[in-house]
Amino acid sequence: MSETTNYDLVVIGGGPAGYAGAIRAGQLGKKVACVEMERAGGTCLNWGCIPSKALLKSAELYSKIQKAEIFGLKVGKVEYDFEKVIGRSRRVADQMAKGIEFLFKKNKVDYIVGKGQVIVPGMIEITDGKEKGKILKADKILLATGTKARRLPGLEVDGDRVMTSREALVMKKQPKSIVIVGAGAIGVEFAYFLGAFGTKVTLVEMLPQIVPVEDDEVAKVLSRAFDKMGIAQHVGVKVENVQVGKDSVKLDLVKGDARETVEADAVLLAIGVTAYLDGVLSPKVSLKTDRGYVTVNDSYETSVPGIYGAGDLIGPPWLAHVATYEAIQAVNGMFGAGKPKRVNNFPGCTYCIPQVASTGMTERAVKEKGIAYKVGKFPFTASGKAVASADSDGFVKVISEEKTGEILGVHIIGPEATELIAEYCLAMDMEGTIDEIHHTIHAHPTLSEALAEAAAATHGQAIHI
Ligand SMILES: Cc1cc2nc3c(=O)[nH]c(=O)nc-3n(C[C@H](O)[C@H](O)[C@H](O)COP(=O)(O)OP(=O)(O)OC[C@H]3O[C@@H](n4cnc5c(N)ncnc54)[C@H](O)[C@@H]3O)c2cc1C
Repeated sequence: MSETTNYDLVVIGGGPAGYAGAIRAGQLGKKVACVEMERAGGTCLNWGCIPSKALLKSAELYSKIQKAEIFGLKVGKVEYDFEKVIGRSRRVADQMAKGIEFLFKKNKVDYIVGKGQVIVPGMIEITDGKEKGKILKADKILLATGTKARRLPGLEVDGDRVMTSREALVMKKQPKSIVIVGAGAIGVEFAYFLGAFGTKVTLVEMLPQIVPVEDDEVAKVLSRAFDKMGIAQHVGVKVENVQVGKDSVKLDLVKGDARETVEADAVLLAIGVTAYLDGVLSPKVSLKTDRGYVTVNDSYETSVPGIYGAGDLIGPPWLAHVATYEAIQAVNGMFGAGKPKRVNNFPGCTYCIPQVASTGMTERAVKEKGIAYKVGKFPFTASGKAVASADSDGFVKVISEEKTGEILGVHIIGPEATELIAEYCLAMDMEGTIDEIHHTIHAHPTLSEALAEAAAATHGQAIHI
């Protein structure tokens, strides 16, 4: 007979939603298990945020060292070892995943490596792995199984000529040329990474601009920076007729009646994600979904009482920090540790150079809503710290409601944009106005002064422009 253990909560999936939810339940003194079929940390730590940022750091440093002369430094010929660049990224991922395993122990979370399936509400079976056949009984279940990369119909991912981000993170050989399909955060980050190391990159996007969710002006500045790097960009274009050969891939870029064939060593698909529910639910359990994503109510409970969902699995935005937030809210709610909140403001960051970060609405969205608004903008060329660092491409753009000064959207492109955005996230969470940012004293010289200057610029009161 299979072994049965009782839990207050069983979490399926050990990514930023799952591990955070499990740890939170541990903090609340609950008996909790986290079932993960690959490795604790999920996509984010193993195949997403963290290893990609390690690669991007190598690329950034490589580019910086080549510009050492600007700083009065002389360096010899700068070389790199692609295998070691990838190797470091894997070690970083491994270190972070181990960290989660440690946190599970610290918080008394039972970590079960295996595939979990909800057989009926309140009961999970381990269907694969060392503990196959084990049954877990749970008062509550949190589904946090994330997403998988979307593929092009009929195109096999072979990890060599055709890749998704997962295969690209462990590339054995640097391609001399690559077509990246999809210019969202993931596509753009790989374009920067490979472009910085000299791969001939062609970036293709179906929508009218690269980084389609970002403000138009931000996309323009990034596009110019990519032009300078020699990254070819095609927007408003569909990919058709992909032909995988022994040594290369050919595909057609179609725009209206025009068709152009491009050829490259490889193609990387960065065209979004779909919900991962393979084998997660037995045929006896049926949950309401919307376009494949699990539907949850304001307490993150699915259509089946006692089964909750959080993270990428419940739909966009597909971001690690959002996944963590949702899971913590869900767990707090299920154990009476606070009324769960749904996600309202969140930052979105892209870690190419120049970095891109934003929160709230784009100017286009504000216009479409017919809201009366003002824009305050400050370029990094006017920031002493940015110029001293020879890193002054980009700007801070703040969009606020005309009468009240309520912050509606903030768009940063430039140095440390992904760190700077936090100040405006806090301000928006506290329902602050641009005046509060303007009148907060920011240390000099720092990049953060640009945040206050952009707010001041709304009323024509920026000092340095
Ligand atoms: C290349 C790349 C770069 C990214 N960069 C960023 C970034 O910089 N910032 C950011 O915020 N986001 C980034 N993301 C997105 C981020 O990784 C996800 O938003 C985040 O991982 C979602 O967390 P999650 O817990 O919902 O799902 P996941 O992290 O996908 O975790 C789900 C886990 O569930 C497990 N699982 C699935 N089914 C079962 C089962 N039946 N039994 C047991 N386990 C199961 C999977 O193995 C997986 O580990 C990136 C993604 C990619 C691919």
